[in-house]
Amino acid sequence: MLKVGIYWFCNDLRLLDNSMLLKAATEVDKLICIYCFDPLWLLPNRYGLVSMSVNRVSFLKESLIELDKQLHELGQHLLVCNENPINAIKDLAIEHKVSTIYRSCQIGYYENQQWLALRNQLPSINFVQTDTLSLYDQDQLPLLPLELPKTFTKFKIAVQDLAVKKPAPLIEFLPPSPLKQTDWLRYFVNDLNPAFKFNVELEFNAGETAGLKQLKEYFNSGCVNQYKERRNELDGWGNSSKFSPWLANGNLSPRQIYFNLKLYEQGFGANESTYWLFFELLWREYFRWYAHLHGKRLFAFKGIKGLNTLTSFYPERFQKWSNGNTPYPLVNACMKELNATGFLSNRGRQIVASCLVNELAIDWRYGAAYFEQQLLDYDVGSNWGNWQYLAGVGADPRGKRHFDLEKQTKQFCTDGIYINKWQASNPYLYLDSVDAADWPIV
Ligand SMILES: Cc1cc2nc3c(=O)[nH]c(=O)nc-3n(C[C@H](O)[C@H](O)[C@H](O)COP(=O)(O)OP(=O)(O)OC[C@H]3O[C@@H](n4cnc5c(N)ncnc54)[C@H](O)[C@@H]3O)c2cc1C
Repeated sequence: MLKVGIYWFCNDLRLLDNSMLLKAATEVDKLICIYCFDPLWLLPNRYGLVSMSVNRVSFLKESLIELDKQLHELGQHLLVCNENPINAIKDLAIEHKVSTIYRSCQIGYYENQQWLALRNQLPSINFVQTDTLSLYDQDQLPLLPLELPKTFTKFKIAVQDLAVKKPAPLIEFLPPSPLKQTDWLRYFVNDLNPAFKFNVELEFNAGETAGLKQLKEYFNSGCVNQYKERRNELDGWGNSSKFSPWLANGNLSPRQIYFNLKLYEQGFGANESTYWLFFELLWREYFRWYAHLHGKRLFAFKGIKGLNTLTSFYPERFQKWSNGNTPYPLVNACMKELNATGFLSNRGRQIVASCLVNELAIDWRYGAAYFEQQLLDYDVGSNWGNWQYLAGVGADPRGKRHFDLEKQTKQFCTDGIYINKWQASNPYLYLDSVDAADWPIV
């Protein structure tokens, strides 16, 4: 009897260094490749926001279109389903008598709940997952899944000398799909899909080819030599690697970056900056396992520390922050950049997050949810983990971080060019609307 498998693509949209897809290709005779665009992502969530802005959907769509083309070259197709994955995959699995479902390991709580739900509904099917999105495999980290070093520094010391697995080779063969050509009409990877109607011009080109191009160009440019000194700049393509949007969609893997970095160091020498890029990849790694370990607590107001912070919700302040209309020009410039491009430097993210938590005294989760909506590189662990950190309810042993906005402006925007670029030099004078009629006459 023919063995039929389903490969469930998530944030691993690539054919290079995709060991899970490689395994699926060798184990089954027929393979269904599917991506599920959950309609929930476009519905308002508990923060009154959506999970995916127009920019994010557009970036994802381009990436899926490219993946579909790559699969075509191997005689395959990508089913892009506008449905909850549990229903879509369950129906396909039953209809095509599937024996195994494959997926890259996910760290998000809800993604893991879906996997468990599907497993429960399809008890006779094998479910296989592997780490394709991290530097290390889970079994290399001795304390997991029950524990993780409490701070990043302890984590870094424990893992930084572990061996990183070599990236898997390019996939050059895939078993054919069991679906007939006519069945494809039920699915789509084109503009018929209501979720994909948006089309915007982004600074980042999506997909694996563009990701690999950035990987090559970044190391060829030699910018990594000054990475540590430049990474805090607010603007400028070469000041940081810009790998994050491709990493988040899985067009690039951290292992590919790691081995390119090692090659660079062999050719041109290692220095503090080249080490620092690895150091930042370790932060990403830390937040991945942090999300995996803490599950739902990643999204909890009290964070992983269970701390109550003094905060409230001010709809007007939140709206002003989101639109870049606060009394702080630097914050406004950052928010305008985020809204226009779907990207913001690390320093910019820290500044606007600190402003939301400290100056505006808003519940940090609204800021995290807004970033989730806007960031092309949205990653559940890095986003919610960094927000918890800044809000003082996460992994920071020092507690809440407060960035002095005046000092930050002097240090990172002395010439005012960045603020002018985003037309943010005339801020709103007031944080809250003041109605003179509310004040007693004296
Ligand atoms: C409030 C807040 C929210 C954030 N949300 C996200 C997010 O959703 N997705 C995301 O990828 N990053 C997030 N970051 C981390 C960081 O800002 C971005 O990874 C970085 O700015 C991306 O640009 P780059 O690729 O040029 O980074 P580089 O400076 O070139 O770093 C290389 C890679 O290291 C990793 N990295 C760097 N800094 C961090 C960090 N602080 N935490 C975790 N990983 C890091 C990223 O994968 C990045 O691509 C957030 C930071 C803050 C302060």
